Amino acid sequence: MSRDKIISGDDADETPVREAVVSSALDPEEDRQQWNLRPKTLSEYIGQTTVVESLNIAITAATNRREPLEHVLLHGSPGLGKTTLAHIIATAMGANIIATSGPAIEKPKDVMGILSSLEVGDVLFIDEIHRLSRVVEEFLYSAMEDFQVDFVLDRGAYAKTIKVPLKRFTLVGATTRAGMLSAPLRDRFGIFTHMDYYETEELKRIVQRSAGILSVKIDPKGAEEIARRSRGTPRIANRLLRRVRDYAEVESDGTITRELADIALKREMVDEMGLDKLDRAFLRTIIEFYDGGPVGIEALSATLNEETDTLVDMVEPYLLKIGFLNRTPSGRKATRTACEHLGMNTAKRKQGQLPL
Ligand code: ADP
Repeated sequence: MSRDKIISGDDADETPVREAVVSSALDPEEDRQQWNLRPKTLSEYIGQTTVVESLNIAITAATNRREPLEHVLLHGSPGLGKTTLAHIIATAMGANIIATSGPAIEKPKDVMGILSSLEVGDVLFIDEIHRLSRVVEEFLYSAMEDFQVDFVLDRGAYAKTIKVPLKRFTLVGATTRAGMLSAPLRDRFGIFTHMDYYETEELKRIVQRSAGILSVKIDPKGAEEIARRSRGTPRIANRLLRRVRDYAEVESDGTITRELADIALKREMVDEMGLDKLDRAFLRTIIEFYDGGPVGIEALSATLNEETDTLVDMVEPYLLKIGFLNRTPSGRKATRTACEHLGMNTAKRKQGQLPL
């Protein structure tokens, strides 16, 4: 049976069983709903075929050898299913999972308590692993490689280093920025997977599956419309489904059709390409304020009053993927397609025809 725990930096002791990870930026209700919608096995997991196949082989081989799974690094944008996979891995290995996140572990002693409580085969899931401090990263090297850690007791003249042996656990790390991991940490993962955005057809199946779980009536065209406007991301697909469901319940007989999804998503300010308010503000700022670019991310972040990390992790990757944005050595540039989509023209701005 899988025992899921949540650990924070302030409270490295085991807290009661919970159903979410520390780093989740979702509100508790949304968090609970996301949890219910999570596939529990690899066969329920839709899309990401390459990732699923390689994990399936690794899990089967490790199980046959009666060995814990090698450490796994999951790389991909937020909401693509990394946390879901970490839980699926633990369940498939018949192991417990302990979930924490990079920012929650401030010092080696925060992770020491977790590591020493792990049993053979247990999964330690570290979300946003690229945000671990260098000292914690270094502390993890020997834990991952030799299954032991050097722990320093006391300070100054009385400082003593003791070697603490650990059970053979599996570290599953999730990151939106694999490039920010130090090479020694990256090299200690035996399995490295990259997750890309989902195809509309896959998201359609995810929407239909979620609608089934939530007992929402939806026709195939309605599911497709939501899928098309979900920025290639299951978490967004599920969120939009819930918003459209609310609308369908209040404004019609509760069945989601294409027309209804279209009206509801327009009200949610999600356009035909799935761009939301922040995506559009980001592009408009480049086009209107910086004449189409190039502009540095820091300048954009200051103009938009948004965290740089939010722009880099949540906004840019999808705009790059759909060809609305170019990243050049001198900064970000909006493409012609982006201008056309927004019905804008940088030349007009230069001539003073477009208000800011
Ligand atoms: P991440 O950890 O990458 O931010 P999550 O694992 O939290 O993403 O996934 C977000 C939500 O999307 C989950 O609650 C789950 O319902 C849904 N989801 C993700 N991947 C899939 C998938 N392959 N099939 C079905 N639902 C998925």
